Amino acid sequence: MTHKEKAERLIRQQYHCTQAIVGAFADNIGLDLKTALKISTCFGGGMRKGEVCGCLTGAVMVLGMVYGYYDAQDKEREVRGTTKTEELVQRFSERMEGKLACKEILGLDLSRPEELAVIHEKNLMGKICPGVLSACIEILEELLPADLKSASAEEEEELDNIAGSSEMRTILISQNRFRRFKRSVGELLLSSQKEIAFIQFDIRQFKVVNDLYGEKIGDEILQFVREQLKAICDDRQYFIHLRSDVFMLVTEYDEEAELTDLIERLNTRVGSYKDIKLQMTYGVYTVEDREMELRQMEDRAAMARKAAKQSAVGRVLFYREQFKENLYNRKFIEENMQAAIAERQFMMYLQPKYSIAKNEIIGAEALVRWRHPERGMIFPDQFIPVLEDNGFIRKVDYFIWGEACRFIKRCETDGIPACPISVNVSRVHLRDDECIKVLSDLIQKTAIPRSMLELEITESVDDQEVSRKAYQLKDEGYTLLMDDFGSGYSSLNILLETPFDVIKLDKRFMESMMVSGKGKLILEQVVAMANKLGLGLLAEGVETREQVDLLQRIGCDQVQGYYYAKPMPEEDFYRLLREQRAAQIG
Ligand code: C2E
Ligand code: CA
Ligand code: CA
Repeated sequence: MTHKEKAERLIRQQYHCTQAIVGAFADNIGLDLKTALKISTCFGGGMRKGEVCGCLTGAVMVLGMVYGYYDAQDKEREVRGTTKTEELVQRFSERMEGKLACKEILGLDLSRPEELAVIHEKNLMGKICPGVLSACIEILEELLPADLKSASAEEEEELDNIAGSSEMRTILISQNRFRRFKRSVGELLLSSQKEIAFIQFDIRQFKVVNDLYGEKIGDEILQFVREQLKAICDDRQYFIHLRSDVFMLVTEYDEEAELTDLIERLNTRVGSYKDIKLQMTYGVYTVEDREMELRQMEDRAAMARKAAKQSAVGRVLFYREQFKENLYNRKFIEENMQAAIAERQFMMYLQPKYSIAKNEIIGAEALVRWRHPERGMIFPDQFIPVLEDNGFIRKVDYFIWGEACRFIKRCETDGIPACPISVNVSRVHLRDDECIKVLSDLIQKTAIPRSMLELEITESVDDQEVSRKAYQLKDEGYTLLMDDFGSGYSSLNILLETPFDVIKLDKRFMESMMVSGKGKLILEQVVAMANKLGLGLLAEGVETREQVDLLQRIGCDQVQGYYYAKPMPEEDFYRLLREQRAAQIG
C-alpha cells in the first residue's frame, strides 16, 4: 500500500489531515500507528484555526522525525533538517499557488462556525483536501532518503483490516521488513566499536510439529518465537523472521561467551510453547570482514545452522572458514573413511609435554593422522568435524586409544620409566556409555595402570553433559584433562562443578597474552584460580621462548607446543623418550 492509499484510508476513518500524513509515514519515522495518530492529534491546531494547512504541519513533523537532531553534537542534521523544511514549504507553496494557510486553500475559515457550515455544505474538504494531501505526500516522498520511502509492513497489517491477504501482500510485507532489518544492521556494522555476530536458528522438526498439532498452532509457535525475540533484544540487537521456521538475530558482543549466554537465554525462553517442547538449532557467524555483503554473512550463519542440524553433537555451531571446505570434503571423507580404518591409514602421532623447570618430558598427547594413499597426509581439522557429524569418530578414537595403550605397554616392557599418554575424547562420546566399556576393555587387555591413560575432554556448550560424563569417568579412576580451556565456551562454573584434574589452556591464550595486557591478566587469574582449586595446569601451543618465560614467571610449569616439539610418529617419540630417560639416569 502506498503512502497515499494509507492517508486516504485514515481520512475515511475520520482522522484529520495532519494525522493522515503522520500516520501514513508512521513506520518510516519509527512510530507505531497508534502513537503516530495520538501525537499528531493536537498538531492540527493551526488548521483548526484556519491557519497553517494541516497537511503541511504533518509533513513538517515527518521531516523533523527523519532529519531532526537529538544529539547536541550533531549539528549537521540540524542544518539538513532546516534546509529540508524550507524546501518542503517552498515546494508546497509552489503547488498551492502561494497559499499556506488552511483558510486560503479552502477559501473559507473553518474556525468560524458560519463559514464551516458553508464548507460542509459545498463539501469543500472532500473536493480540495485530497489534492493537497497527495501533493504533500509526493513532496515528502521526494525529500525523504531513498530507503525510507517504502511503505511499512507492520503499519500495513494494522491498517489493513479490510483487505484479505494475498500472496503479493505477504511478499511485500516481508520485503519491507527485510529492508528495515538490513538498514539497521548496516548501521550497526558501520558504527559499532564491538564485534558483531549473526545468529541464525530454526526449530527442529517444525514440520512434524505442524503435522501433529496443526498449522494454526504452528503459526502460534512462530508468533511466540517472534515475541520472545522481541522481549530479549535490546535496541542494538536486531532480529528477523526470515522464512518458515528460520529466524536470525544480529548482535554486538565483546567476548564469544556473551553469545553463548545470549543463546542460552533465548533457548530457555523458546524451549516450550503450551506443553509442546521446542528444540532449536543455532548457527553463529562472527563477522570478520564488515565490507562483506550482508547476504554472505547470512549465508555463513545459515551454513553453520545447517551443519549444526546434521551434527549429532551440538545444537550450536560457529561458522569457521573450514566449513566451506568441509562441504566440499565431506563426500571424499565419507567415501574413504571405512577403507581408512580397514587399511590402517589412520596413525597415532605423539606430541611431548614438558616441564619447564625440569626441562624434561612429562607425558605426551596422542593425535590422529590420516595418511591417504593418494592424497597424502590429512590433518585432523579437515576430517574430524565430518567424522563427529556422522559418528564415525567413535571408531577412530577407539583405534587411537588402543594405540596409546599399546605404546604405554611397550615402554613398560622396554623398561622406560612411566610416561602418561593423553587421548582425545570426542564430544560424541558424551552422549553414550559405550566409551567407558571400550576403555576398560583396552586397559584390561593391555594390562597397563589406569593412571597412565589420561583423557582430554573439550568444553562444550552443554556444561551439564560434560559434567555428567566427567563424573562417570572420574569414578572409573581416569585422570581428566579439560582441553581447549578459554577457547569460547569456557565458563568458570564448569571448573567448580566438574572433577577435572588438569586444565589445558588453549593456544589462543598463548597468542593473546603476548599482545595484550588483558590477555596476560586473564592468564594470571586462571593460573591463580587453578592453584587455588588444586588443579594442574598445562599451556598448549607454546611457540616461543618469551611465552615459556612468561608462563614460568606466573607459575605455569607444564607446556606443550612447537617450541619444544611438534607431534611426531610413534617411533620418533619413542627414541626421544628413551634417550632422555637414559640421560636422566646417566
Ligand atoms: P587439540 O586436542 O587441541 O590438539 C592440539 C593441536 O594443536 C594439534 O593439532 C597440535 O598439532 C597443535 N599444536 C601443538 N602445538 C602447537 C603449537 O605450538 N602451535 C600451533 N599452532 N599448534 C600446535 P592437530 O594434531 O592438527 O589436532 C587438531 C585437533 O583435532 C585437536 O586439537 C583435537 O581436537 C582433534 N584431534 C586430534 N586427534 C584426535 C583424536 O584422535 N581424536 C579426537 N576425537 N580428536 C582429535
Ligand atoms: Ca587435545
Ligand atoms: Ca587443545
